[in-house]
Amino acid sequence: MSILPIVTYNDPVLREKAAPITEDSPGLQRLIDDMFETMYNGQGVGLAAPQIGESLRLFVMDADPFTADEEGEEDLGPMVFINPEFSPVGEFKTATDEGCLSIPGVRESVTRPETIRVKWLDRELKPHEKTFSGWPGRVIQHEYDHIEGVLFIDYLGSFRKRLLRSRLNMVESGEVDAGYPVRPKRAAEADKG
Ligand SMILES: [Zn+2]
Repeated sequence: MSILPIVTYNDPVLREKAAPITEDSPGLQRLIDDMFETMYNGQGVGLAAPQIGESLRLFVMDADPFTADEEGEEDLGPMVFINPEFSPVGEFKTATDEGCLSIPGVRESVTRPETIRVKWLDRELKPHEKTFSGWPGRVIQHEYDHIEGVLFIDYLGSFRKRLLRSRLNMVESGEVDAGYPVRPKRAAEADKG
């Protein structure tokens, strides 16, 4: 397994609508293993394929470190979501702080549906359907956004976005030490040239 560099917020791959996965392959299994290693190395709870530069409808999650203390929360363990779909259950929404491995050092409150019904394929491409609430439901919605080309900062109002501008410029120019390997867009372009 290897730790892959994570692309940062202004990389165009994070703005693409990712492609469905149609078949299993040794390459897919290796990619999933690498994504878990990359996520754990960054102390993240979720990682979507576009974040390591692969425009595929795939994300991994291990939300347990954040739910272990909450009574009644089941242990989900590491999970793989391929070609996921979800819909909100009920009208109830909550606001919670989120961060993103592609936007190091930024945490902002985002309002999302509290409970969702999710359909997806696991790493063997077997279908599943399940209802998620609380933190795992939130992580799934954040990661799902990544495969739709959406970032959590898109939900912020223009005033909050203006306050973040200088931080985002630092991420963009590679000045931020994320504590894990990142591939800022400008640096990646410099490598090619
Ligand atoms: Zn993210």
